[in-house]
Amino acid sequence: MTRRNLITGGAGFLGSHLVDRLMEAGEEVICLDNFYTGRKDNIRQWLGHPQFELIRHDVTEPIRLEIDRIWHLACPASPVHYQSNPIKTAKTSFLGTYNMLGLARRVGARLLLASTSEVYGDPEVHPQPESYRGCVNTIGIRSCYDEGKRIAETLCFDYQRMHGTEIRVMRIFNTYGPRMLPDDGRVVSNFIVQALQGLPLTLYGDGSQTRSFCYVDDLIEGMIRLMNGEHTGPINIGNPGEFTIRQLAEKVRERIQPSLELTTQPLPQDDPLQRQPVIDLARELLGWEPKVSLDEGLEPTIAYFRERMRADR
Ligand code: NAD
Ligand code: UDP
Repeated sequence: MTRRNLITGGAGFLGSHLVDRLMEAGEEVICLDNFYTGRKDNIRQWLGHPQFELIRHDVTEPIRLEIDRIWHLACPASPVHYQSNPIKTAKTSFLGTYNMLGLARRVGARLLLASTSEVYGDPEVHPQPESYRGCVNTIGIRSCYDEGKRIAETLCFDYQRMHGTEIRVMRIFNTYGPRMLPDDGRVVSNFIVQALQGLPLTLYGDGSQTRSFCYVDDLIEGMIRLMNGEHTGPINIGNPGEFTIRQLAEKVRERIQPSLELTTQPLPQDDPLQRQPVIDLARELLGWEPKVSLDEGLEPTIAYFRERMRADR
């Protein structure tokens, strides 16, 4: 029998790439989304396919389905979107994960949680191994997301301890690639969209803060290996190649329009100064490491936005 997968947030950036991979592997996929930041276009190619189903639903409400695996990705990931209704974001993380764990328990499904490097907050340990417990402000503008994901991880482990629910917890570091929304607000899409429009690139702060950028195909491969493997996690999945935000801006403008200006805007509250994953566990336990460098991954990402903006015109 083919495996029945539920992908929450399946119409979003990462979720839709996962839908593609599982559908191409001949599995059954139920894509569940409330379309807050997801788009039907991302999964349009599968509509009408006998092994694909789309459900408009909000994970803060319970749902009953017969499935074998839950890939729980539903949650806005960009600060602009998760901060626009922070109470809803906290509800999505807590109630959404609670409902999906309840479903997993009821039907004996395995659940993978898309957690985040934000559980490390503004880290005092660099780079960040899974054993680092983090430095998170409980009352700041990022807390709805960071603390939401921390309690979601807690819930997973309590369901495992209390009910024997099979869980996988993945800490995703900044990931980019085709299908990010032009107005997503995250840095890679912002810089590319600005450059394609001939606008100055907006550095928040002086641009010396760092991030480590993982290309979407690498990320999805790591996610599938974690779900299929025997290790619960938490496990970091990300690309250890670390860049300052200024370096990223320079790479983007050099590929699109080198004469563009870099302007500065205030650094948002609690914006982490540095971030880089230790991926020793992923290497050892999953035999996974990223293959696509930032230079390589920017090319298809820029090509995607170029095409999309042409089509939108
Ligand atoms: P995204 O915003 O593109 O996708 C999130 C999806 O979840 C969207 O389709 C949205 O409509 C849906 N959604 C949001 N709230 C929902 C709700 N209450 N009920 C049902 N659906 C809901 O973001 P993404 O980058 O694809 O991120 C996917 C997951 O991965 C998120 O859980 C995010 O926290 C996590 N993550 C992503 C990154 C990254 O760099 N992309 C990094 C760390 C963690
Ligand atoms: N950033 C920036 N300009 C932008 C958008 C973001 O300089 O137009 C910075 C942001 O302040 C942060 C980094 O880029 O330091 C990554 O931001 P993003 O929102 O992509 O991810 P996160 O902060 O959640 O890692």
